[in-house]
Amino acid sequence: MSDQPLSIMPFLKVPESGDPYLEGSKCSSCGAISLKARMACGKCGGRDTAKPQKLANKGTLHAFSIVYRAFPGIEVPFISAIADLDGGGTIKTNLIGIDPDPEKITLGMDIEVTYAIAPRKDGEGNEYMTYYIKPAA
Ligand SMILES: [Zn+2]
Repeated sequence: MSDQPLSIMPFLKVPESGDPYLEGSKCSSCGAISLKARMACGKCGGRDTAKPQKLANKGTLHAFSIVYRAFPGIEVPFISAIADLDGGGTIKTNLIGIDPDPEKITLGMDIEVTYAIAPRKDGEGNEYMTYYIKPAA
């Protein structure tokens, strides 16, 4: 069992000291930023041009869907959302800190990324660090 929460996704970095952050990749040829490392740049087609890039913790809401049905043990409704981060990178996660009411959620609203220990541990008792987005303060 790990002393420290494990990352729930390969692009979520949990440093031994300091705050967690999301890491995407930036193409050294054209500057395009994407969340996941690719074999070739999606924009310019460059190969081996991807360099690690720390992503912004702020952005805007791109799309959302209110989910009413989920696996047993997962509280519904929740808001599944996609956000564009400032400076590049697109993430999909849950939007928290706001009622799951379409009238209260606005596309393009400012959001920020927030990090938390996932509600459930794995079979070995390890805790996982996960990330959500919430309306920007
Ligand atoms: Zn490129």
